[in-house]
Amino acid sequence: MQNTQNLFEFPDYLLKEEKRALDMTREQREEVKDISSHNQKKVLKAFVEEKVSDYHFHGTTGYGFSDAGRETLDRVFARIFNTESAIVRHSIVSGTHALAVVLHGNLRPGDEIIMATGDPYDTIKPILGLQPGWKGGLDEWGIDARIIPLDKNDMPDIPAIIDAISEKTKMLFLQRSCGYTWRPSFSVKILGDIISAAKSKKKDIIVMIDNCYGEMVEKIEPTDLGADVMGGSLIKNMGGAIAPTGGCIVGRRDVVERASTSLTCAGIGGDEGATLGHNRLLFQGAFFAPHIVAESLEGAIWASCFLENMGFDVKPRFDDPRTDIIQGIRLGSREKQEVFCLGIQNACPVDSMAVPIAADLPGYRDPIIMAGGTFIQGASIELSCDGPIREPHAVYLQGGICFEHVRLGVMNAVAEMVNSATD
Ligand SMILES: *Cc1c(COP(=O)(O)O)cnc(C)c1O
Repeated sequence: MQNTQNLFEFPDYLLKEEKRALDMTREQREEVKDISSHNQKKVLKAFVEEKVSDYHFHGTTGYGFSDAGRETLDRVFARIFNTESAIVRHSIVSGTHALAVVLHGNLRPGDEIIMATGDPYDTIKPILGLQPGWKGGLDEWGIDARIIPLDKNDMPDIPAIIDAISEKTKMLFLQRSCGYTWRPSFSVKILGDIISAAKSKKKDIIVMIDNCYGEMVEKIEPTDLGADVMGGSLIKNMGGAIAPTGGCIVGRRDVVERASTSLTCAGIGGDEGATLGHNRLLFQGAFFAPHIVAESLEGAIWASCFLENMGFDVKPRFDDPRTDIIQGIRLGSREKQEVFCLGIQNACPVDSMAVPIAADLPGYRDPIIMAGGTFIQGASIELSCDGPIREPHAVYLQGGICFEHVRLGVMNAVAEMVNSATD
């Protein structure tokens, strides 16, 4: 149990290590600031070009007809992501839902989708019918999903992907972030290479990106390099820790329109949907996104260095290029996953007294342990740490409204690990 008298008074050797990791990561953290300046300009421009105004913040009720705020927010996102169209809604329940809406709206019986970056994220599998025993997957509609494994270096196998694309292949699905897999996340450049190779084999293939955790990490997004549609969560990067819930879809007009018929129905699409009082928070969150992403990235880079110096196995390393806000830490056992997550939880502003316990979550095949004492339930743009109870018993650290908090949390987790090892 934690001694609250000495709360966050860390021993000298940890404070020294904190400083050492700060010094070692200076260059990488400067780079993060350069990227966030670039992206803040991009976001501000979109707000100015769309003439965002106070009256856009007032919500509609009922059908939500003529909701100028909703329509403007969609156009702001389309500008940010350099796409023709966007749907940004508090009523999209999560990133998984945003992606599902795109899939359901665009795939038809007889179509095939190729998962080009190996096994997709846990919650995507039931949507495609790739998780035996779960109901309602697209397999029930005669839609085939085919997974192309990563190559021996854990990179996308471009020749195999191209080879697999056939007449039947309607969509190609690329996942940018590693998810709960001990593999590298794929940079926008790598995704761009796959996109152009796929399009030269089949011009009309729809390339879809699971962009969760990726937004605002680089200066460009996959849609800048030809991706047709992307989905993400507003309790991750693009909500800026302000949006209370929601998801976003950006992309080509026809693909987003089809997605919108699945979010609501044919005929209505994105033209209805009361925003109640949420518009301001969604606008404000998007405006905050570049900065909050930068705070959490500085946290991830520092944590990677600090933890590696303390003997932990980390991915990515502090000086590896980054394309998402995730920091993987391989711990090797369930017990260590529990202790590390407890240390993070105890250093959260909300529910610090809770003890994270692995539990089944909807859409996940293994129990998930999750530390997240966040203002918004489950928000992983706030400091959080989670992982599935399975080999290699890794936890994935992400988020942080401010860099200072990430440091306190990670140092507390390490102190907890040290204490539990000597108990
Ligand atoms: C978070 C995440 C999702 C979506 O998860 P939700 O919890 O439904 O928002 C999808 N793919 C990846 C890679 C993710 O990290």
